[in-house]
Amino acid sequence: MNFNGKKIVVIGMGKTGIATARFLANQGAKVAVTDEKPPGKWDAEFELMAKEKWLEIGKYNTDILADAAMVVPSPGVPPANNLLVAALKMKIPVISEIELAYRYLNVPIIAVTGTNGKTTTTTLLGEIFKQSGKKVFVGGNIGNPLIEYVEKSAKDDFVVAEISSFQLQWVEKFRPHVSILLNVTSDHINYHGSFAEYLRIKSRIFAKQTENDLAILNAADPAQKGLGGKIRAKLAQFSSKGEMESGIFLKNDKIIFRMPDFGEEVYPLNLIKLPGMHNVENVMAAIIAARFCGCPQGSINACVADFRGLPHRIEFAGEKNSVKFYDDSKGTNVGSVVRALDTFAQPVILLLGGRDKDGDFETLKPLLTTKTKNVILFGEAQNRIASLIGDDVPKLKEPRLRDAIETAYKSAKPGDIVLLSPGCASFDEFRDYKERGDHFKEVVRNL
Ligand code: ADP
Repeated sequence: MNFNGKKIVVIGMGKTGIATARFLANQGAKVAVTDEKPPGKWDAEFELMAKEKWLEIGKYNTDILADAAMVVPSPGVPPANNLLVAALKMKIPVISEIELAYRYLNVPIIAVTGTNGKTTTTTLLGEIFKQSGKKVFVGGNIGNPLIEYVEKSAKDDFVVAEISSFQLQWVEKFRPHVSILLNVTSDHINYHGSFAEYLRIKSRIFAKQTENDLAILNAADPAQKGLGGKIRAKLAQFSSKGEMESGIFLKNDKIIFRMPDFGEEVYPLNLIKLPGMHNVENVMAAIIAARFCGCPQGSINACVADFRGLPHRIEFAGEKNSVKFYDDSKGTNVGSVVRALDTFAQPVILLLGGRDKDGDFETLKPLLTTKTKNVILFGEAQNRIASLIGDDVPKLKEPRLRDAIETAYKSAKPGDIVLLSPGCASFDEFRDYKERGDHFKEVVRNL
């Protein structure tokens, strides 16, 4: 792409926006940036960059789009954002940072998307590739922008990238060598408009793949039914619900991987140290991708056996008077709450709440009546959730997370489990899910 002398607008000045602006400037573009945060609330790096002469900083309105040749939104900018809508009306092309990076990248990409499990699966895959002696860059939505990688080196064997739906909204040529769609359940519907649209955007991860590429689908995910027929790449499916002729599936205490080019391989289920069937699914998806890219079975076994998962994903957070506490602060949608509840054999005391994303909490009703002893609702979303889950679910309401934890502890008996799996975003009370999870752990420590 020739950016020389062209005005390119970058929206959002977080880590990815900053890297994108620098990259474009080095390509000769005239870079204009804007951020919804007013000056004084910007990232420290942006504050520094703003002093450099090459950058035009515009107000957060459509004036910045005048004469723009292209707009690149940051990953956190939702599709219905005013500036993006205006850009489309003005027929200014909009592309995401992963699309931009892709155009300069000669390294095969393993792309991981889905409503839940992206970071876990991406991280595990990165470990497996390293263990297999392959040079790999792990990035995307997970913290290291691909565009920064393009500028620095881009000389590895593989890139493993976590890709969000917001990033997939603005792709055109993006063609991963391996694409994984872990699951699609309701999330971000307030931004995408409908579940059908959200699913359509997620499945764009397969759109440009060819028969030399691999598409990995979840056979047990009702949302993905019929998707395979529209995909040009080779197909491989994983399933935690029963045997398949081809693909990877669970049979008793074994994971069986059966594909034409590989014969049949067996992975013992007890290698997996992560909680829950959802993590078995993540591991199965990772195994297919890793085998397809030439990682040996021994390296996969070693990594899976070593992998202890990431913080704030059903993480054990301590025990007080025989009451166990689990931090699933990253469980920010209803789908992840379902899987967290399924992880525990016994009913739990569930902490649910925060900032609502139009979650379909009514679908939780049957599970809450069987899998919870009590539900403590907290934060901004408490009244909406209370009305959606109805009167049959035992519940209490508390203003803040701290109060909810204390109430849960007071009502708990020895042997009980208290689970924070909030099903909501954290922004009503916290900077992000990490701060919320750390706060949970601290309050638990001080009970
Ligand atoms: P993402 O990057 O997609 O948000 P994470 O790996 O960070 O995914 O996990 C986010 C939340 O989803 C956590 O609560 C975790 O326990 C849950 N989770 C992880 N994998 C899955 C899965 N395959 N299906 C449903 N929930 C999952």
